[in-house]
Amino acid sequence: MAEFIPQASCADAHEPQSLSVSEAQQRITDLIKAITAWEKCSIRNSLDRNLHNPISSPIQVPAHNNSAMDGYAIHGSDISGNHFSLLQIGTAFAGHPYVGKVNKGECIRIMTGAMMPDDCDTVVMQEHVEVDGQMITVHGKQLKGQNVRFAGEDIQVGDIVLEEGHKLTPADLGMIASLGFSEVTVKRKIRVAFFSTGDELRSIGQSLEAGQIYDSNRYTLYGMLKRLGVDPIDMGVVADDKDALRTALQLASNQADVVLTSGGVSVGEADYIKEMLEELGQVDFWKIAMKPGRPLAFGKINDTLFFGLPGNPVSVMVTFYQFVTPALQQLAGNKMVRKNTVQVNCVSPIRKRAGRFEFQRGILFTNANGETEVKTTGQQGSGILRSMSSANCFILLEESCDGIEPNSTVTVQPFSGLI
Ligand code: AMP
Ligand code: MG
Repeated sequence: MAEFIPQASCADAHEPQSLSVSEAQQRITDLIKAITAWEKCSIRNSLDRNLHNPISSPIQVPAHNNSAMDGYAIHGSDISGNHFSLLQIGTAFAGHPYVGKVNKGECIRIMTGAMMPDDCDTVVMQEHVEVDGQMITVHGKQLKGQNVRFAGEDIQVGDIVLEEGHKLTPADLGMIASLGFSEVTVKRKIRVAFFSTGDELRSIGQSLEAGQIYDSNRYTLYGMLKRLGVDPIDMGVVADDKDALRTALQLASNQADVVLTSGGVSVGEADYIKEMLEELGQVDFWKIAMKPGRPLAFGKINDTLFFGLPGNPVSVMVTFYQFVTPALQQLAGNKMVRKNTVQVNCVSPIRKRAGRFEFQRGILFTNANGETEVKTTGQQGSGILRSMSSANCFILLEESCDGIEPNSTVTVQPFSGLI
């Protein structure tokens, strides 16, 4: 009698043919080229967009020497010991410079941001000054050149202030405005079409019959895509039917830069995504040594990138953050992606078998001593979306890790910055 040889399955700790998380990330990176299309937009609309060109300054900032304090602008050479007196001959306000000469022995009252008179090089804080009519007496140690912001101190003409591929922050919007630009050239937003697959899925508003569930993946995907600043195209639910899938994939790839699907990428009887993609494009099906989220399809349909995410709601989110997020950032031309992991003490014990990289859902919290620590959210099943909802970070456990004792240091990836 022939011997029955079981096939590797999701329940196994490790399969020899599976890719590591970093290998899969590298293969994706190798295939993506950043988009070159760009558009102009107003400063306000440029928030969170990626710069198409470096921005160099047409002016110097500050434009002129100005006072860093409310006080008195003086000649540094008039400083004499810890007490000296000067004659006040005028006042300079921000936006209203003092015009006229300031001779030695004279000073002017000056407000923060007001232009320094050409003759003066030093500002004395008003708190150090005693006023008697037109005469002031300065007390305390003063240094020549103090309390003055010099022209060009922040930015020189021609300085590159923001690099190409930089994702614009509120501070950047202010800086661009301070240089006098009204518009910014940014990379075109990328378009991402997505749909859920599965005969069991119903849309909200429909009634559920036995065995049916509401489609939740399209909502998490929509949220994650929105946070990334792409244009999402929601294509609804597609049945486990070859013709319907073929039509949906063609339609999606014709109108988007990236197509995402969830479900139907494993080895079940109704998992047709693989067959359709082999017909329409070049797509690899990977088993990744990770938990959750083992099956992932990645490739192209014509020039459109394709990610076939698993169906389980937590797996969708984990694979999105680990593979799709960096890919979309790279495609969108965002070059400022930072590593976002930290090491913290984990108060919970964690059970794990060596063999797969695990993304456990964790909660970062502040302990009684004001230190940041992490605990797990408890139940970690890949269908338990609540574990994502109550989490604020992933606890990253390397393939070789075979469990964590309470109060060990772990690597954590906070959701802020990720989502
Ligand atoms: P699949 O990968 O298609 O075998 O799906 C794996 C599991 O995820 C099954 O229990 C599905 O019912 C569930 N699932 C698939 N797609 C969705 C979805 N869009 N929303 C919620 N659950 C889903
Ligand atoms: Mg399915």
